[in-house]
Amino acid sequence: MIRIVKGVSPRKLTTDGATRARAHQDEYDADGAGFRAGTSKFSFPRSVYAHKTVRDALERIQHGKCCYCEAKPEKPYAHLHVDHWRPKSCTRQDRAAEESWPGYYWLAYTWDNLLLGCHFCNSANKGDLFPLVDPAERALDHHTDIAGERPLLLKPDGPEDPAAHIGYHEEVPVGLTPEGRATIAVLGLDRTEHAPRLDLLNRLKRSRDVVHRYHGDTSPAGLEFVARARGVLERAVRPDAPFSAMATAYLSRNPLPP
Ligand SMILES: [Zn+2]
Repeated sequence: MIRIVKGVSPRKLTTDGATRARAHQDEYDADGAGFRAGTSKFSFPRSVYAHKTVRDALERIQHGKCCYCEAKPEKPYAHLHVDHWRPKSCTRQDRAAEESWPGYYWLAYTWDNLLLGCHFCNSANKGDLFPLVDPAERALDHHTDIAGERPLLLKPDGPEDPAAHIGYHEEVPVGLTPEGRATIAVLGLDRTEHAPRLDLLNRLKRSRDVVHRYHGDTSPAGLEFVARARGVLERAVRPDAPFSAMATAYLSRNPLPP
C-alpha cells in the first residue's frame, strides 16, 4: 500500500450522490429500528457511486492499481471495483463477529470514502470488515460523528504514509503497528496468493545482482547491462509500478552502489 492523494470530488457524487445520501438519511429516520435489525435495507445504485467519472478519476489517481495490495490487473481480463473504505451496507469488527446493521450508508457516495480495490482485497478478504480500536466508538448512524472512531484499517488516501505501519520481510508485508497488523489481516496482504509480488522481488534481486556484478565494468556490454538493470529497479519504485511499496522497502534494505 502506498499513500494516494485524491483531490476534488467528481460532480456526480456532490450532485446525485448528495441527493441519494440525504434520501437514505430520511429513510433511516423513518425506520431506524428496521435498519438496525437488518430487516430494512438500503439500495445503493452503482450508477451513482461507481459512475464512470468516479471510476475514471480513481483509476487515474491510483495509476490503475488496487489501492490496497498495489496489484495492477491487466485489462480487459480483470478490473478494479469501487470499494467503500467504510462499508456501506453492514460492518463487522472481525471475521468471527456478527454483522452489525446498518453500515455507513450516509457515506456511500462520499468521495473521501471511495477507492478502487481488486477482487482479492475487496471481495475475497475485506468484505464488510471495518475494525476499530474500540468497537463501542462505532458511529452507528448519520447522527453520530465518525471523528469519534479510531479505525484500525489504514486509509490509503489518509494523512499517514502506510510505510510507517507496514514493512516487508522479503516480499511479505509485516505489521509494524496495530493498524499495520490489522490492515494486513483484513486485506489478506500476507497470503500466498500474492505470487506476482514474489515474482517481482525475484526480478529485482536479479537486476540488483547484475548491477553489482558489472559495477565498475566500463566495457560497452557492461555499461549496457548496468543501465538496463538500474532502469528496472528505478521503474519499480515509481507510484505507477505494481507493488511499489515492496520494491521501495527492498531497495532501502539493499541499496545499489552509487
Ligand atoms: Zn488488491
